[in-house]
Amino acid sequence: MKETTDRSEILSKHSLRNTDRREAILGVFLRGDSALSHADIEQRLDDGFDRVTLYRTLKTFLDKGILHKVLDDEGTPKYALCKESCGSAGHHHEHVHFKCTQCGLTNCLEDVQIPAVQLPRGYQPLDVNLLVQGVCQLCSRKPEKSELS
Ligand SMILES: [Zn+2]
Ligand SMILES: [Zn+2]
Ligand SMILES: [Zn+2]
Repeated sequence: MKETTDRSEILSKHSLRNTDRREAILGVFLRGDSALSHADIEQRLDDGFDRVTLYRTLKTFLDKGILHKVLDDEGTPKYALCKESCGSAGHHHEHVHFKCTQCGLTNCLEDVQIPAVQLPRGYQPLDVNLLVQGVCQLCSRKPEKSELS
């Protein structure tokens, strides 16, 4: 199955041993596009999945450049898959995150770069986050009944 290949490929690309738990957590992310909180992930895993393992695995995935943190307005960290160029040396993307106020999902807009921010002299940026809130593509595409032809 495609997804299984993806999972083991991602793990080996980041020099991580394949374990069932890592694959299970990765699988959750590969199945959806939006950013997931701890609770979201737990919900999608089998009952009885060890919480500590989940925390540890998320941390490992963050360190290895498989997942990145997504900050939205909910106060709990969410996580999303990194595409391509991230690794244990660091993350290399500064894309915008979009939170839809209708479906409540937060997504990576991989193609939308955070514009350069001019900081006053003496300030060194390490990490930039930009969250745009609004109505996502799917929600804005849902036609009103009267518009259906
Ligand atoms: Zn990354
Ligand atoms: Zn939406
Ligand atoms: Zn993202």
